[in-house]
Amino acid sequence: MRVADLPLAPEYVDHFAAQGIEELYPPQAAAVEAGVCDGDNVVAAVPTASGKTFVAELALLTADGPGLYVCPLRALAREKYEEFDALPGVDAGISTGDYDSAASDLASNDIVVATSEKVDSAIRNGAEWVADLACVVVDEVHLLGAAGRGPTLEVTLATLRRQAPDVQIVALSATVDNPEDIADWLDADLVESTWRPVDLRVGVHADDTVRFDDGTDLRVPVDTADPETNADTEVTAELVRGAVEDGGQALAFVRSRREAEALADRLREERLSNAVVPDGATDDPAMAAAEVAEEVREAGATGTGERLAESAAWGVAFHHAGLSSDHRALVERAFRERRLAVICATPTLAAGVNVPARRVVVRDQQRYTGSGTEWLPVLEVHQMCGRAGRPHLDPYGEAVLVAGDDEGREDLWERYVTADAERVESKLRDRGALRTHTLALVATGFAGSQAEVLDAFAGTFYASRTPNPDLGGVVGDAIASLIDDGLLAPTDDGIEATPLGEQVSRQYVTPETGVRIVEGLRTVEAMDPDDVTELTALEIVCDTPDMVDTYLGNAERADIYQYARSNAAHLTTEMMEADDFEGWLESVKTARILREWVEGASVEELVDAYRIGPGDLESRIERAEWLLGAADALAEVVGVSMPAFSSTRARL
Ligand code: ADP
Repeated sequence: MRVADLPLAPEYVDHFAAQGIEELYPPQAAAVEAGVCDGDNVVAAVPTASGKTFVAELALLTADGPGLYVCPLRALAREKYEEFDALPGVDAGISTGDYDSAASDLASNDIVVATSEKVDSAIRNGAEWVADLACVVVDEVHLLGAAGRGPTLEVTLATLRRQAPDVQIVALSATVDNPEDIADWLDADLVESTWRPVDLRVGVHADDTVRFDDGTDLRVPVDTADPETNADTEVTAELVRGAVEDGGQALAFVRSRREAEALADRLREERLSNAVVPDGATDDPAMAAAEVAEEVREAGATGTGERLAESAAWGVAFHHAGLSSDHRALVERAFRERRLAVICATPTLAAGVNVPARRVVVRDQQRYTGSGTEWLPVLEVHQMCGRAGRPHLDPYGEAVLVAGDDEGREDLWERYVTADAERVESKLRDRGALRTHTLALVATGFAGSQAEVLDAFAGTFYASRTPNPDLGGVVGDAIASLIDDGLLAPTDDGIEATPLGEQVSRQYVTPETGVRIVEGLRTVEAMDPDDVTELTALEIVCDTPDMVDTYLGNAERADIYQYARSNAAHLTTEMMEADDFEGWLESVKTARILREWVEGASVEELVDAYRIGPGDLESRIERAEWLLGAADALAEVVGVSMPAFSSTRARL
């Protein structure tokens, strides 16, 4: 099937031809046959790199009206926005932040790119533009199975379909075990394929040999006898070196940030920068690597930045959530431009942006939880492996899991190589999710009674998957608890949101966060006004479940305890009365970091003093801005004067 034969204006055909897209890939052709250009609902469950973006573009360009592209991550949203905005004559818009607006300015765009949380919050704030949508494309729809984010996605899609009953839904999924259930729910045709533009073989390394699933073996002998070295690391280094010397690039996945940086240190010894040939202006690999190092330094001269720059000069980068978002984006881009030979990453990179490589090495298949280690989900390992093989550049892709010995090989083989990815199951039945979405439905006026809440939930993935979706009991409990919390109130014939409940929903905070902020405000009322400071404001918002947790190491505990004691007059929690003392101490640590930040401490100082990464600081500042804004709006509703919320926010 040719692009020129599709119902597309000639300028689009030319635009795609310029990108090398003239003949459709088989899954794309299947999506066209399923009606993606005719306004029909389609679910496409296909591997990474099989051209899902083009399927999305077909739906959006042939739809009879404005389109919305929903994706999970902001970095991804930006990437897609740039792609759509480059389409001739298309006016694209992007919306990812500011949870308290209807984003009405987006109404004029042909294509809007947004995260599911942003769409949900825009609907809660009365966004009318959603009713005019002709087409909604949902990327990474398998995230329906993720706690927190999954329920938001399914409730948002159910609401969108109620508001715009004729809207076309195109959902793009990784290869999961039950895509037919997602298609059933969306009344969609299912396109399921394992086709990939570049062949991929997956194997396990043990005893000096990689055994691949296509029946071939590759000898990779490694001297692992030296007790000073880690055997799995040496195997990984050898696999990476082999791929790079062969003209490819490599991604190596390890379990933690520290391991990612340690592996990058080890790989520097391999002097890989001499082997990759960059895409860009220079064809001198060493010069390209030196340029990347310089760009890294310019993007942030922190200790982490310096370590990253030193690695990049040797063609090696590390990538994890502790890096600043600028550094992360830079590493991803430089790798795509072949100015880096290898990225050592934590598993988060696998779910993120597009960074294909010749060879993927999964050194660690387990990760730490609070109390021990757990195996990575099959879907996650498949997504890592799926990054192998770059179209037009690599003859094939290779993914290798590193096992210690033959027994380990058999285990990994069964667990990941031959196994199907997990099923996608709804998480809507979770109490927190039900409370959040019940409040939102009532606050936005979509439901005014328990029966109407249940009616709205009838359109969810959960209801479609459950033969007798008896949500009555749990929704009843959610409503009762929201009434107890003062967020809903009974009326003669049903329920309504209180002004507080309405504001909690609009500010896009969870009911639990709303309650914690109100408790804080009640305490503030009884405090000496001179004691109410920025620290008070920060302690309140950092103690809510919507703030990210900050790890508190044993060595720091005494210090933070002492800090809490000496600042007790400014805090809204009595030390001895905290329900979850450890959790609260962690909140105090976050509040202390942010307080020092507003007082002028540098990223560098905070990173050193509190053992966090620049990326951690960034995410906490961003959350604090949102939560302080929400707290300010809630203070007004409950009638407590707390100027510290907005003054602190202004100084972040
Ligand atoms: P994914 O399925 O992971 O979203 P993308 O849509 O990013 O994959 O596509 C991967 C690459 O394949 C892109 O570089 C894209 O330009 C290219 N591509 C997509 N469809 C075609 C096609 N029909 N012919 C040639 N190249 C294509």
